[in-house]
Amino acid sequence: MKRGLVVQKFGGSSVANVQRIQNVAKRVAGYRKKGYDLVVVVSALGDTTDELIALSERINKNPSEREMDMLLSTGEQASSALLAMAIHKLGYDAISLTGAQVGIITDMQHTKAKIVNISADKIKEELKNGKIVIVAGFQGMTPNHDITTLGRGGSDLTAVALAKTLNADICEIYTDVNGVYTADPRIEPKAKKLSSITFDEMLEMASLGAQVMQSRSIEVAKKFNVTIHVRSSFNKKPGTIICKEVKRMEEFVISGVTLNKNEAKITICNVPDKPGLAAKIFKEVSGGGINVDMIVQNVSHTRQTDISFTVNRSQAVKAVRLTKKIAQKVGAGLVLKDEDIARISIVGVGMKSHPGVAARMFEALAKHGINIEMISTSDISISCIIKKRFGEKAVRALHSKFGLS
Ligand code: ADP
Ligand code: ASP
Ligand code: MG
Repeated sequence: MKRGLVVQKFGGSSVANVQRIQNVAKRVAGYRKKGYDLVVVVSALGDTTDELIALSERINKNPSEREMDMLLSTGEQASSALLAMAIHKLGYDAISLTGAQVGIITDMQHTKAKIVNISADKIKEELKNGKIVIVAGFQGMTPNHDITTLGRGGSDLTAVALAKTLNADICEIYTDVNGVYTADPRIEPKAKKLSSITFDEMLEMASLGAQVMQSRSIEVAKKFNVTIHVRSSFNKKPGTIICKEVKRMEEFVISGVTLNKNEAKITICNVPDKPGLAAKIFKEVSGGGINVDMIVQNVSHTRQTDISFTVNRSQAVKAVRLTKKIAQKVGAGLVLKDEDIARISIVGVGMKSHPGVAARMFEALAKHGINIEMISTSDISISCIIKKRFGEKAVRALHSKFGLS
């Protein structure tokens, strides 16, 4: 009996070794047996991507981004072929395809390319031939036939984008935890699994550091209303549904706490207090392809002020180089870089209707002797920059303060 089309994505830890690949093959075969058509997206085995990055650094500390994409895409190419072989062994027909082969066309921003089109004709043809289609995640191809990758965690994006293009009935993201929790369960063992979460909350949590889903994949899911089921590849328990609207009897004040230790803080000292300088500085930085996160500038009392901002740590060296250049041009002082920071955030749509959430957050941090260096807020989140070593302690303190444990 035909049951519809399922897109399943298996993350690195789910395919980390031979036995796990065989387990994934069994799960996929089980769905096939029930009559589903299957498109299976895989990440590279275990820590392969990190290992390839480390290897490249030993050869060239400033590698060409095009070559980086050639290198990193091999991880997913290997795992897709291995999974196809494991499925063959169980007596089912499967074919592995790279991002380029399935027609995932991206722009030319190597290492963080955006998908511009997916033709998917090849997938449809192979499905029609009765095959289970295994797709190497995290990658695409430019119109000039150069291989690109979609940013760290990008296999999630491959899965969501394929689910949308193929109009799949289900998009399942299999990982090494049972779903999306109120905090990283590896940091807060008392964290609770959420049965459902809205796109907006998940987007906020993902962009503030909850690694469980790549934030860009949630942007796409939200845009095209692709419901996602995040669940464990190690058991059959239901996980977390990420969807447009969640009906909760009572709105929680916050639904999650996140920690991001991958940011660096850059401070430009003694910026003259003149209109247009912030624009000049951030134009220079963004012109270098750097995403600026939090920005803090104080009102000046001395005709000079300090401006601090955060960027992803991988872009910190480049950001400092660009900032120094522009600081000199506009007559500002020293440029300082601080990598010893972490961003701790609380997220929840409930904070819209509950006053005093920020005060409670600051109170909890103060009680644990944690100093706040920067603060930023959005409609549904509050973030503080703190010293890195307090990150985990802050997660547990806030988790308990807001009654999530
Ligand atoms: P995969 O390799 O399957 O893509 P990731 O390592 O990218 O897996 O994401 C899963 C990890 O995300 C978990 O092991 C967990 O430590 C981490 N994580 C961080 N925040 C959360 C959260 N709120 N809920 C669940 N997992 C989280
Ligand atoms: N292997 C890639 C990474 O580690 C993509 C992914 O896992 O989704 O970032
Ligand atoms: Mg991931």
